[in-house]
Amino acid sequence: MQKGQIGVTTENIFPVIKKFLYSDHEIFLRELVSNAIDATQKLKTLSSFGEFKGELGEMNVKVSIDKEKGTLTVSDRGIGMTADDIEKYINQIAFSGAEEFLNKYKDNANAIIGHFGLGFYSAFMVAKKVEIRSLSYKAGSEGVRWECDGSPEYSMETVEKTDRGTDIILYIDEDNKEFLEQPRVDSLLKKYCRFLPVPVISGKIQEWKDGKYVDTEKDKVINDTEPIWTKKPSELSDDDYRKFYRELYPGQEEPLFWIHLNVDYPFTLTGILFFPKIKSNLEIRKDRIQLYCNQVFVTDSVEGVVPEFMMLLQGVIDSPDIPLNVSRSYLQSDTAVKKISGYITKKVASRLDDLFKENRNDFEQKWEDIKIFIEYGMLTDEKFCDAAMKFTLMLDTEKKYFTLEEYKTLVESSQTDKDGNIVYIYATDPIAQFNYIHTANEKGYNVLLMDGQLDGHFISMLESKLEKTRFVRVDSDVAENLIPKEDKKDSGLTQEQISMLTSLFHSQLPKVEKSDFLVSFESLDPTANPILITQNEYMRRMKDMAATQAGMSFYAELPDSYNLIVNTSQPIIVKILEETEKALGEKLAPMTATIDADNARLATLKTEIKDNTPTDEQKAEEKSLMDKVEATRKEKDEVISRYAEEKPVVKQVIDLALLANGLLRGRDLSEFINRSVAML
Ligand code: ADP
Repeated sequence: MQKGQIGVTTENIFPVIKKFLYSDHEIFLRELVSNAIDATQKLKTLSSFGEFKGELGEMNVKVSIDKEKGTLTVSDRGIGMTADDIEKYINQIAFSGAEEFLNKYKDNANAIIGHFGLGFYSAFMVAKKVEIRSLSYKAGSEGVRWECDGSPEYSMETVEKTDRGTDIILYIDEDNKEFLEQPRVDSLLKKYCRFLPVPVISGKIQEWKDGKYVDTEKDKVINDTEPIWTKKPSELSDDDYRKFYRELYPGQEEPLFWIHLNVDYPFTLTGILFFPKIKSNLEIRKDRIQLYCNQVFVTDSVEGVVPEFMMLLQGVIDSPDIPLNVSRSYLQSDTAVKKISGYITKKVASRLDDLFKENRNDFEQKWEDIKIFIEYGMLTDEKFCDAAMKFTLMLDTEKKYFTLEEYKTLVESSQTDKDGNIVYIYATDPIAQFNYIHTANEKGYNVLLMDGQLDGHFISMLESKLEKTRFVRVDSDVAENLIPKEDKKDSGLTQEQISMLTSLFHSQLPKVEKSDFLVSFESLDPTANPILITQNEYMRRMKDMAATQAGMSFYAELPDSYNLIVNTSQPIIVKILEETEKALGEKLAPMTATIDADNARLATLKTEIKDNTPTDEQKAEEKSLMDKVEATRKEKDEVISRYAEEKPVVKQVIDLALLANGLLRGRDLSEFINRSVAML
């Protein structure tokens, strides 16, 4: 019997494996089964080249548990190993800079195992002793038995072994007894080995007999050796894809469509990506796409390998070129991975483009379900954005879809403002903004519906991409001003009239919490409403963004500010103005005269002050004048407000405008109703 030391330069690798790799230790099974599959595939290859002339026989991998002995065995009928092979591949582990690396990656078993080619040694994460029994395929080979109990010493001897291949026997340690339970082992195999290319057998198929499940004679194969992504798309029907989807994601709604990925150059990659329905919930599930390496499951957290927005998709990606046994930060900087990510993006974009071109109708029908994916992609991925500009759709409030190009053509002539910008008008809530949409439509404007979760950001993105284009929400201004075609029309009021009406309407504004109203006057269409309430586009966007983004609390704290636009051409307003002037004219005239006189005196006083340093007398006069102006103004306001109190029509027109914007609530609403009833 040969004895020796395993070629590890660090004192002892095994405690390290056990200690550091605790959390991930279930992957030992993946590693051992993968080795067994490799050995099997190698022999098949040798056989196909004529280098192995013997019978291949039934080629499968068996995982068996012996509870009494406390062992888990992985057996294959692959190439096997001679004593020399074991010496070379198992005993001599190239191992430099080990300690440093282990410390760096102590939480990442994959990284450690990958770095050192320690797949086999991961067995020591769960076993106190590991035994190899192997018979090489090479003619005249002798059986070999190798054993190691977790210290750097191993022993090796020749043994009687008649069947070709390798058994790896794990003497499971106290802490890992779970790996002697058939259901636990089966579930691990289901996770990691579900699509391996060689049948993996684990236990027997059971049947229900005499009130309990009992083993039958038949082996239980746990994997599908030819998953559909390994086949040619031309060999597959839609049903095959749907069936596969159901297998991967049981209990989920049917996918909308899928993309079969298939490249050989400059890297190898196959896979199928499914588009699930993503209604409004932009919750990126990081576990949707599964990553495989030659049909071995590696991970279902694919950050770094696919662009972030692709994580809304589902399916599988299989590539031997993704360096799977490395840390995530390494993955993200890897050039092969970058290429793969770019390729997937291109492929997805071109598939969407095809779908759009082939069947526009169908594409439109699916739009609501894929919109969030496409918008998210456009917002986060420059390349995807450029490609998607061709097929991204916009929906108007009449439920018609347009491409960006089509929409531009549609509105260019009627919706260009005086500065040559095309103005896209949009609504976010067709019910609440019904009135505005209607008015805009009447003016011949088209209104887009932008009610998606990402539409706010999407609009900003489009504004930066499309030349001379800006978006305004339909209620951001009165219809006349949404697209300024010429300089604003004058309200047609004198300064005195403006000041009087401002006081009049101001005095009757209800107190809406966290809202400010700015009264202004415009001569609009006489058939339009007497008062319109609009919300400044810029401020509203800032507040919307503040609601979803950190660091913008300044805007979030501001009250909502609304413009109360009084339509001075509207007959009711004209009448209010006339009546107010008639009723208050005489009363207000002397007050106005006093204010004017005091203001005039203030102006002269300013000119009398020399070198900006008023005398004490001048200071006193200035103060008294200012106080007087203020007091007279107040007095004036009071007169107007007392008058307004008795003119229910003032409050009524304001309330109507508030009502139209959903701003009339509670007590104000109930007073409005009572007042309306009284007026009727
Ligand atoms: P890796 O698989 O990354 O090379 P491992 O430590 O898992 O590292 O295995 C080392 C080597 O041992 C393999 O490359 C292979 O040559 C040999 N080996 C492991 N398991 C088997 C097996 N079941 N049959 C034949 N050879 C094996």
